[in-house]
Amino acid sequence: MVTTEHPRQLADSYDVTIVGGGPAGLAAAVGARDQGAERILLVDRDPTPGGILLQCIHSGFGLHTFGEDVTGPEYAHRALEQVVDHDVDVLTDAYVTDASSDLRLKLMSPSTGVATVDTSTVVLAPGARERTRGAIRIPGERPAGVMTAGLAQAMVNLHGRLPGRRAMILGSGDIGLIMARRLTLEGVEVAGVCELLPYPSGIGRNVVQCLEDFDIPLHLSTTVVDIHGRDRLEGVTIAPVDDDRRPVMSRSAHVPCDTLLLSVGLIPDAELAQRLQLRLDPVTGGPVVSSTMETSRPGVFAAGNGVHVNDLADWVSREAQVAGAAAGDLALGRHRPLEDVHVTPGHNVGYVVPHTLSTSRTQTVSFRVKEPIHGDTILRIGDVHRRKVRAVVPAEMITLKVGPKLLDGCAGDTLRVDAIPAGQEEA
Ligand SMILES: Cc1cc2nc3c(=O)[nH]c(=O)nc-3n(C[C@H](O)[C@H](O)[C@H](O)COP(=O)(O)OP(=O)(O)OC[C@H]3O[C@@H](n4cnc5c(N)ncnc54)[C@H](O)[C@@H]3O)c2cc1C
Repeated sequence: MVTTEHPRQLADSYDVTIVGGGPAGLAAAVGARDQGAERILLVDRDPTPGGILLQCIHSGFGLHTFGEDVTGPEYAHRALEQVVDHDVDVLTDAYVTDASSDLRLKLMSPSTGVATVDTSTVVLAPGARERTRGAIRIPGERPAGVMTAGLAQAMVNLHGRLPGRRAMILGSGDIGLIMARRLTLEGVEVAGVCELLPYPSGIGRNVVQCLEDFDIPLHLSTTVVDIHGRDRLEGVTIAPVDDDRRPVMSRSAHVPCDTLLLSVGLIPDAELAQRLQLRLDPVTGGPVVSSTMETSRPGVFAAGNGVHVNDLADWVSREAQVAGAAAGDLALGRHRPLEDVHVTPGHNVGYVVPHTLSTSRTQTVSFRVKEPIHGDTILRIGDVHRRKVRAVVPAEMITLKVGPKLLDGCAGDTLRVDAIPAGQEEA
């Protein structure tokens, strides 16, 4: 592992301070340094930077960033090596507890105690949190053995412990799919994966490689309606749902199991964003951002899963690099580009990030569709960009590049982003 030395003493002030040392924070640090910012501090609450990547020991990372298929820890290792080469102050085991509007951060760590850092700009890269049982309100007892899929992943991959012997998984998000395979490989019997929606929530390659290759049943349009067991989970009741997603109890079934993993979505960790009273997107739950990932508060940037849940770490790194570079630029007194175009979700699009664009630079627009379209689909940004793709699913984030040439004459416009079945464009 790359070793980072704690800064012997925290400086009183920094050009750029980055909260979070996952792929977003690491890339932001490199971006800021590449722009010439000198005093950069990266803070992470864990003992080693790398974020969620450290527990993702499967491959499937890095094809875009490193041109190679690597594991999560390998991806983190390479990203951290770049940060160390770029001479950034890295403070681990340190939690940023508060941020004030004049960009004074309060942090706590065993090496510094409670400390305050003034910073010219900040990049928030805190990642996302898993939705829990409380968020989806499953009735029943509260026995041990019910946990989020990410927690089970940390138990198995970081601590060498199995969560149980027979597991059911609720939700077909990528973490749940990956854990179905992981538990099977470790000798746990996986009874099946239930998904409320009529299609999987995870990406296609994970459905094939994690379920189909291991003969693990995927029950679509099905949910868990009851949890049984007093001290330890003894089983769950599952039931199919009708078109209004209401359980059909007459067709319910009991599944004996001692473990229930929940893979029912991630939500951006917006704790600091809320303290800073940033404008939040009601759909993503993360901050509203400009094309340089600057939030509604000048000097506060955000990137990665703390803004919107990305499907690939590579996209996180790319987006965060932009945020770090812009934070570095601003800290050095350079002007920010004029954000003169708004973008908004249109037909079958759930959200769009960033929320504004600049006619003066090339930027990436990321979005997800609400419903799958299994056939030729037209992706459209206003009248300026149109691309045909073979199919779209909500699990896969779509990215489109737009630059000054395409946006010429759009200053002051609001562009809708649409995903429409080919042939129905006028509808
Ligand atoms: C189970 C799973 C499987 C995945 N599989 C793949 C895959 O195969 N391929 C792929 O490309 N991507 C995959 N991803 C997605 C990818 O890992 C994430 O998109 C990416 O890690 C998000 O990066 P991030 O830096 O935004 O957040 P994180 O990686 O979550 O990092 C956030 C960091 O911020 C720190 N932090 C938060 N708040 C504070 C605070 N207040 N003070 C100090 N530190 C703080 C946290 O400790 C953490 O280290 C997977 C994700 C998961 C969960």
